[in-house]
Amino acid sequence: MRRRRTARKSSTMVTVIDCKGLDSGEETRIVRRLMKFEDLPEYLKDNEFIHNHYRCQWSLKHTILSAFSWHNETLNIWTHLIGFLIFVWMTVVSLLETTELGLAGLFNGMSGARICVSSNQTVFQHDSNVTQHISLLNTKGEAVPKWPWLVFLAGAMGCLICSSVSHLLACHSKRFNLFFWRLDYAGISLMIVASFFAPIYYAFSCHPFFRFLYLSSISFLGLLAIITLLSPALSAPRFRHFRANLFLAMGSSAVIPALHVLFLYWGHPNVFIALGYEVATGISYALGAVFYVSRVPERWKPGAFDIAGHSHQIFHVFVVFGALAHCVATLLIIDFRRTSPSCGV
Ligand SMILES: [Zn+2]
Repeated sequence: MRRRRTARKSSTMVTVIDCKGLDSGEETRIVRRLMKFEDLPEYLKDNEFIHNHYRCQWSLKHTILSAFSWHNETLNIWTHLIGFLIFVWMTVVSLLETTELGLAGLFNGMSGARICVSSNQTVFQHDSNVTQHISLLNTKGEAVPKWPWLVFLAGAMGCLICSSVSHLLACHSKRFNLFFWRLDYAGISLMIVASFFAPIYYAFSCHPFFRFLYLSSISFLGLLAIITLLSPALSAPRFRHFRANLFLAMGSSAVIPALHVLFLYWGHPNVFIALGYEVATGISYALGAVFYVSRVPERWKPGAFDIAGHSHQIFHVFVVFGALAHCVATLLIIDFRRTSPSCGV
């Protein structure tokens, strides 16, 4: 047996020079030590251009604590953890905001200064009814529900925290590896579906048939994607292109409702600017996918980007930028809805 053991087996941990031969899912715990790519079991070999600083089958405690030490997943964990915290902050501000949820409202809420822009909002702010936390008023005093916006925030938070936790824990065992990468892919599908909810709900609030058609179509696609990606075989590194294309296809289907909105509200400045931000969102996700699939820059200089600067970290940053651009687009559409005349007027 090639694996050399340098210490006797204790109840939970052995010291080994490498992790080879642990592909069977053997629950051996390896002493805390960073390893090279060639010393990993097959199930942990994902990117041959990242040569070193791998964790392999550490105890759960050491794996969790490794969030605070340097290895080749540290920045993958933190890029999405910071993104998650930004969305938590936005959720808290949105839940507390009772008058305006559009761009002005969110940023006023974030700065702690709340303003009222019309007399009926002032009345509404003084009304202690709990409904003020679940809906907003348009300029005619009619309720505009908050929940589609909160669905998007929940989807973004779910995706980002699943990703962060997956990068932290997937190296713990073969079982964890299979479970967490599938959770990560399910989280991405969920975020894509959730991203559709708010803009479509608000933009098509006067066209309930199309609202139902678009929302049910993307929910169905998302469900199909989750079921497909739950298959363990599709978690394998060689299906990287398939996964990226599946997510891009789901995201690209947004072009159809976007063109429809443009047709319905041609000439409305908020709609134009919002669609500009949606284009920025699409470009950001697409650029992220290009890095994810191509493995640039580590492909150009293998081993040089192990800790910082490799493609997956760049992909994560583009995902957060894309989600934030989508936030601005959605808030602009909420502003548009709040300031638009009622349906049929
Ligand atoms: Zn990731």
